[in-house]
Amino acid sequence: MPRIRPDFNIDGSVGRVFFAGEIAGFFNPMGEGISSALESGHLAARAVCESFSEPAVAALKYGVYLKPLRTYMERQWHFVGTVAKTFSEM
Ligand SMILES: Cc1cc2nc3c(=O)[nH]c(=O)nc-3n(C[C@H](O)[C@H](O)[C@H](O)COP(=O)(O)OP(=O)(O)OC[C@H]3O[C@@H](n4cnc5c(N)ncnc54)[C@H](O)[C@@H]3O)c2cc1C
Repeated sequence: MPRIRPDFNIDGSVGRVFFAGEIAGFFNPMGEGISSALESGHLAARAVCESFSEPAVAALKYGVYLKPLRTYMERQWHFVGTVAKTFSEM
């Protein structure tokens, strides 16, 4: 947790390599990371299936599809900041 802060970077992809779950930046401070790993993995697959022959387009779509999940994670981080003094800067 000390290494991941609310202004975390979401790295959706590099070239044809797509990232999901914690390696993409979706570290859930509430300890519920499985759902975001599954959701981002599903969204990556969706973007790739829709635009398989155009990786750049798939990457853009993936970034758009990830926005609600990112917003959810930001809410989680801000909530943790309100309940734990250690993370009050969040
Ligand atoms: C003790 C504990 C309890 C938890 N309890 C819950 C819970 O109750 N509910 C919940 O939702 N979440 C829980 N979590 C969090 C949850 O486990 C993670 O958020 C989730 O597993 C993240 O999924 P992921 O796919 O991003 O990463 P991971 O599940 O960590 O998968 C990454 C995989 O990549 C592999 N890997 C790493 N480097 C390489 C490489 N170079 N080449 C090939 N493979 C590689 C790793 O071996 C691993 O299998 C818990 C975590 C811990 C530690």
